[in-house]
Amino acid sequence: MFEKFGAKLKALFNSKKLDESFFEDLEDLLVEGDLGASMAMDLSDKLRAKAKNDKIDTQEGLQKALKELLRGKIKSYNFPIDKEKLTVILVLGVNGVGKTTSIAKIAHKYNNDNYNVVLAAADTFRAAAIDQLELHANKLGVRIVKQNNGSDPGAVIFDAISSAQAKNDHLILADTAGRMHNKDNLLRELKKIDKIIQTKGIDNNHYKKVLVIDSTTGQNGFSQAQLFNDAVGLDAIILSKYDSAAKGGTLVQIGEKLNLPVAYVGVGESYNDIKAFDEEEFLDSLVGLK
Ligand code: GDP
Ligand code: MG
Repeated sequence: MFEKFGAKLKALFNSKKLDESFFEDLEDLLVEGDLGASMAMDLSDKLRAKAKNDKIDTQEGLQKALKELLRGKIKSYNFPIDKEKLTVILVLGVNGVGKTTSIAKIAHKYNNDNYNVVLAAADTFRAAAIDQLELHANKLGVRIVKQNNGSDPGAVIFDAISSAQAKNDHLILADTAGRMHNKDNLLRELKKIDKIIQTKGIDNNHYKKVLVIDSTTGQNGFSQAQLFNDAVGLDAIILSKYDSAAKGGTLVQIGEKLNLPVAYVGVGESYNDIKAFDEEEFLDSLVGLK
């Protein structure tokens, strides 16, 4: 996990003496790794100062020093899911990022741990989206609450909560439509959904909004996080498709600038291909230590 970018960084740290062009190359590489221009410059400057002060000149020493500079910028997030009370997780993100797949993976995980999981088909924009979620529900043996396509996403969530409360279920994972990423639409839909959640007596500790970001979209992932966070106030991020592009620099930017933690990393298309986010592991791979 996370190796590709780390390997490049490791190679850079190994190949050169620490002159001006080295730090320029480092800055370029950090930009290429989706850390953003300003943070890349800042990190490169700080590493230069640290290397000089602490007389660091080995490859591993530099990797460790960079890791220390990155530490604390991204935090992990655990969903507050328990068997005492119903939790609703609203899964947001633009089309194709991996919302439905991530929902299926998380459902699989909690279902295996004997939680009663319900999927809410609140991506009502396309019939295919409802079918796709239903296929997962059937394969996993979890319940799905759906309506006809074109219906109101809020109404689907209302139904899902009503039935989950009646059956003492523990977790609702709600799929949403990618087209919601237009800010006005998002705000309007989310206001309705928030109101429904409130009416149903679900407190903010049991209602979480998570954004799925596709690793392969690079820098654009940060813009998406900013847009969604401004509009609805996110609780956490899921990074998908980490197996396709081992670049996680976007997460550093999201953590640093938006203060959003990361819940999971998707590493493939099967149900087991999801990992809880681990800061140590992430930073080790980001700088190529492991
Ligand atoms: P949605 O439109 O946001 O619901 O996206 P989907 O869940 O339908 O996923 C879009 C495509 O990305 C599908 O082909 C998924 O199999 C694929 N996908 C989702 N997550 C991952 C992942 O972690 N790794 C890989 N390789 N593919 C993924
Ligand atoms: Mg979908």
